[in-house]
Amino acid sequence: MVRQNACIIVLARNEDLSDLKITIKRFEDRFNRRYKYPYVILNNELFTDLFKDTLMKTVNGTTIEFGLISEDHWSYPAWIDQVKADKEREEMKRKNIIYGGSLSYRHMCRFYSGFFFRHELVRKYEYYWRLEPGVDFFCDIEDPFLKMKLFKYKYGFTITMREFPETIKSLWSTTLEFLQNNRHFVHPNNSLTFIKNSDGDYNLCHFWTNFEIGDLRFFNSGEYLSYFEHLDRAGGFFYERWGDAPIHSIAAALFLDKNEIYHFDEIGYFHNPNLHCPMAYELSTLTGTQVLLLVASETGHVYTFATPKLSSIITEPAGKNLIKQ
Ligand code: GDP
Ligand code: MN
Repeated sequence: MVRQNACIIVLARNEDLSDLKITIKRFEDRFNRRYKYPYVILNNELFTDLFKDTLMKTVNGTTIEFGLISEDHWSYPAWIDQVKADKEREEMKRKNIIYGGSLSYRHMCRFYSGFFFRHELVRKYEYYWRLEPGVDFFCDIEDPFLKMKLFKYKYGFTITMREFPETIKSLWSTTLEFLQNNRHFVHPNNSLTFIKNSDGDYNLCHFWTNFEIGDLRFFNSGEYLSYFEHLDRAGGFFYERWGDAPIHSIAAALFLDKNEIYHFDEIGYFHNPNLHCPMAYELSTLTGTQVLLLVASETGHVYTFATPKLSSIITEPAGKNLIKQ
């Protein structure tokens, strides 16, 4: 089996240990004990010996590296007016906006928007899979990194959502501002129709980024880096509560070919309170409507993927999937 140049990224706090241990155990059982992809576990503080020892035992011989996030990747940039930021947080807390009062949550969102892919422990890899303490996986998983490589996917997701509008009041106008001077960054075969209303506004749709499988070169690209820089300068990570999910999603919709974005329908996944169940795959197994897809890689290996027969899945206008035998 050819292993890809990929890692599993987890951002966690020391107090996340017991949740993370359960998640990693499941992740190993369902997937990684067969592939042994290395883990990179990051924190804005030092991990305790207990944290490191426990997880090293849990992964049972798989490489696991623990990294500290540098201060400039987890602090206020110089141009932020901290008094204003404090005031806005108070106001959002008063309005009961989710995580509205939390400064650490904002640092986390900024880190995942602009810095995780620049960490020295991450830089050596081509692909990453983001994992969070507390998430769960229901089915055995075939190597998704191989799929990313063979089909040249740049971004993979499993669940989509709508963002809370109060948290990103000026994200779309700031994005449009960026585009005024950077039209050339927009991919001709983009998926803007996925994220825009008919009136041209952002429809709040985003990939739920607690699960992500991506190509690190996308985030290290000139397009993405200058987009992030523009957003960071505008201050919305602190004056509002911009999440990494709408930012990654808008960037993928703008800068990628729509064929470079892949829905990992085949991965059964849970992050409280939502789950994704790979219905089409389950049903196609039951009804025998699976086909085998043969793909030849650049190295000459031929791989087989079991997929549901597309023509056998009919989507009614109501959105209900029917399987035709
Ligand atoms: P939610 O999924 O939006 O409710 O946010 P989470 O609380 O799950 O946080 C997202 C990810 O960031 C998880 O992997 C957390 O463990 C991690 N995280 C959140 N806040 C912090 C923090 O202050 N420090 C560190 N090191 N990790 C954090
Ligand atoms: Mn979470």
